[in-house]
Amino acid sequence: MTNSDGVHIHPAVDHGIKQGSPGFSGGVLTCHCASNPVKVRVSAQTAHNHVCGCTKCWKPDDAVFSQVAVVSRDAVEVLENGDKLQVVNADAPIQRHRCRDCGVHMYGRIENKDHPFYGLDFIHTELSPEGGWSAPEFAAFVSSVIESGVEPSQMDGIRSRLRELGLEPYDALSPPLMDAIATHVAKRSGALPA
Ligand SMILES: [Zn+2]
Ligand SMILES: [Zn+2]
Repeated sequence: MTNSDGVHIHPAVDHGIKQGSPGFSGGVLTCHCASNPVKVRVSAQTAHNHVCGCTKCWKPDDAVFSQVAVVSRDAVEVLENGDKLQVVNADAPIQRHRCRDCGVHMYGRIENKDHPFYGLDFIHTELSPEGGWSAPEFAAFVSSVIESGVEPSQMDGIRSRLRELGLEPYDALSPPLMDAIATHVAKRSGALPA
């Protein structure tokens, strides 16, 4: 057993990355309530799936990272028990809608039209029984796991396990997403043509 085998990242990646299926067109996310679960239909393939170390994303018990992807908000529709949804923090840029009974986050939505990611919802595909969702591609906000109590001495092991899984660790978002944010800012400021 190598050192990195003992490092748990997230149940969806701990045994290797499952690749997405071509032509996959979505599924239904269900919260963890045994009765009257919240159900949300996502009628498109996701993009930019990744594991995230921030303290805001919902993660399953014992997971160090969340797994989160984006999809067009037009593709997200609450099917059942939407009355149980509540916004975790209405002032946050991403309004995470959680089930008030089990605490699972069903989708995160951006209402600020000036936000670089406006139009995209953040979802956790592990809440769907369907296989074929886009595979996680990288690890975001890796250093932030320390904020949820991970010992700094464990970070080398966590980063090497992420690399072993093919999830390049970044302490913010991946370079393409950081570039997209900076491009948005530059177009608004006039530093780049709109
Ligand atoms: Zn629930
Ligand atoms: Zn996060």
